Formats: sequence, structure tokens, C-alpha cells
Amino acid sequence: MISPEQVEKIKEQLMAHIEKGFPNDKKEFAKNRVQTMDAEQLEAFLKQNNLVKGNQAGAEGPQGCIFCSIVSEQISSNKIGENKDAIAALEINPVSNGHTIIIPKEHVAGKENLPKSVFSLAETISNLIKTKLKPKKIETVSSNFFGHEIINVIPVYDSENIDSARSPAKPEELLELQKTLLEKKKQIASAKPKRTKIKAEKIRLPKRIP
Ligand SMILES: [Zn+2]
Repeated sequence: MISPEQVEKIKEQLMAHIEKGFPNDKKEFAKNRVQTMDAEQLEAFLKQNNLVKGNQAGAEGPQGCIFCSIVSEQISSNKIGENKDAIAALEINPVSNGHTIIIPKEHVAGKENLPKSVFSLAETISNLIKTKLKPKKIETVSSNFFGHEIINVIPVYDSENIDSARSPAKPEELLELQKTLLEKKKQIASAKPKRTKIKAEKIRLPKRIP
């Protein structure tokens, strides 16, 4: 594990890298991502991108793509759903409570290039959030970072949207939210005991003798 001092140092370097190399409208988002990573996530991220020695599993996904790292589980996430083409994970910098990102497993840019099942996962997650968190409505917006198209599922309680102010969610908050969303409805135990049908015993009548 890397030390807290190293974490700070590495974050500083990544920030400088973002400042120099990212388009202006993506800077804040990327910086936020880096800033909220803990030591473990940061280390996984560095390994994924061949930035430290001892990397064995960095072959997947284009370099620097955080979403590929999440899909390959090199960076941990709070998953709330998955199908063959995508995973659904709670956004760590949500614009509202329950903000979820649908991450296609393939590193693909462009909404039109995504397989249909990515959208069906978005639909499923929207319904789940509607039922559990009771927002006014849900907005789904696609966005593209690091060349990886994702779909944001945003519960709207007031007038939140994709450009609203984001605030980092605490890991324990995300865990709690994940639990709430994944909790199955408890079956209501019926007060009355079940009536058991008693099978009428077949009574063999003696053959009538004519
Ligand atoms: Zn990617």
C-alpha cells in the first residue's frame, strides 16, 4: 500500500497532468475523481495505467480510463446492477442522492455505438431508483470522459441536472445507499395460519354385489 505522503504526491502529479492535458470542460470532473480516490483506489489506478512496477493486469482498456478500471474491478465501486454489456455503479461525486452511472463494458465513444442492453440496464436502474428513493423524476444523460461513453441516471428531487454542483459522497453513505437499493422487499408474513387442505381419503367401497 502506498503511504499517505505518496498519495498526496501522486495526486499532485495527476492534477498537474489533468491541468495541462485535459480540455477545460473536463478538468473539474477529472480532478474531482482523482481527489476522491483513496490509497487503494489510487494504487489500482496507477497499476492499471502502467505507472508503477509490478503491473500484471494492465492490459485491459485504454490507458487512463477510469471507467475501464471500474469495469475490470481494479478500482472498487458500489455496484447496484449488471448485465452482459454494462454495469451500474453509484457515482462517487453525485449531483443528487442515488446518481448512478451505467458503464458499458466496452470502451466505446458515442451514444449511438452502445449496445441496446446498456440502455435496458439504465431503464432497470431508473425504475429501481424511482421505487426506492421516490424522486420527482429521473433524467438519463449520456456523457463521455476519457473516450468512454457512460449514461448518467439522475434522480431529480428538486431541479438537479448533470451540470449541478457535485459533492463527493462518503464511502459509508454509498454503502448505505447501495444496501437500500439492493434490499429486497420483505415478505409480509400472513397473520392467519395457512389452512391445510386435508385430502379426502379415498374410500374404497366394496364392490357391490348385485
Ligand atoms: Zn474505458
